[in-house]
Amino acid sequence: MMRFIFGRTYWLALVFALTGCLPSPESVELDRASQTRSPVLSDTPSRTRLLTPVARHGQLRVTNGKITGSDGRPASLAGPSFFWSNSDWGMARFYNQSAVAYFARDWRAGIVRAAIAGEHDGSYLYQPEANMARAEAIIDGAIANHIYVIVDWHSHHAEAHADQAEVFFRQLATKYGHTPNLIYEIYNEPLDTTDWDTVVKPYAERIIRAIRDIDPDNLIIVGTQSWSQDVDKAARNPIRGFRNIGYALHFYAGTHKETYRRRAARAIEAGLPIMVTEWGSVDHTGDGEIDVASTRDWLDFILTNKLTHTIWAVSDKQEGAAMLRPGVPSDGGWGETDLTRAGHMARDIIRNWPTD
Ligand code: MG
Repeated sequence: MMRFIFGRTYWLALVFALTGCLPSPESVELDRASQTRSPVLSDTPSRTRLLTPVARHGQLRVTNGKITGSDGRPASLAGPSFFWSNSDWGMARFYNQSAVAYFARDWRAGIVRAAIAGEHDGSYLYQPEANMARAEAIIDGAIANHIYVIVDWHSHHAEAHADQAEVFFRQLATKYGHTPNLIYEIYNEPLDTTDWDTVVKPYAERIIRAIRDIDPDNLIIVGTQSWSQDVDKAARNPIRGFRNIGYALHFYAGTHKETYRRRAARAIEAGLPIMVTEWGSVDHTGDGEIDVASTRDWLDFILTNKLTHTIWAVSDKQEGAAMLRPGVPSDGGWGETDLTRAGHMARDIIRNWPTD
């Protein structure tokens, strides 16, 4: 009961942040002092906050259909997702350890997500070394700051390039599979025409086998049909025979509403472990206005189900989901005037996310 009350208190703070302070310059006191984070934090009153995210939850796993810490209790983490990592698309410049340190320290992010491009020009398909270096910068930043990191194969057609995906994930597993920080996300968003049973699932089983050859335990998140919305299809035909497999749920609050939540709720009830590896407060295009009411409904859903989530996107592109204003420096330390409306909101949500 205490945990329930605690959660609602935080939730009220979030509602306030969403409805009363958009943007909220007064509430933003950016800490630019240090770019490293010690294992024990001293500036927060809650006992659980005295531990860093990785110290608190340890090796994440799946326990009885939920994504939990090593103690079997649900792990609900919050953080930002980086943008497509393609060279020359403009957002690869944010793939550096200092930016991760900023999110860990200033936003108190428990997790970050690297969206390593698996299609289009400048992606891993054409520039594997450059994109692997971007993944490593985010992972090394997460390890240095004792937070978790999702490395996502950012593609809508991963089955068409499964050989490259397998090489990529084998490399990651070899270098980082022994750390508790790393979470593999092996297929960002299959299309609505890419069938779960006959295409997505067989692709996932191939990549999972490759990872499990090397790393027996770190979480692997599998994208679901229709831009990672058809979690019900995965619930009807889940991947079997491997430990610690979770499934991605994505939404954009301006477009996706109650119908999608009900579908996700049914999948959760059926025992499907879910992680919200990408969401936005705007339209599914990544642009448009913030839908405050729908965002609040989704956050309530995430809180109630104790899910982990990462918000799209660390970007200074001129679109609604971008958290940063055009032309900001690349390496973190962003002040209030560097954040967009979406950036202020993401910071409020992540910084106030309950730790228990
Ligand atoms: Mg491992």
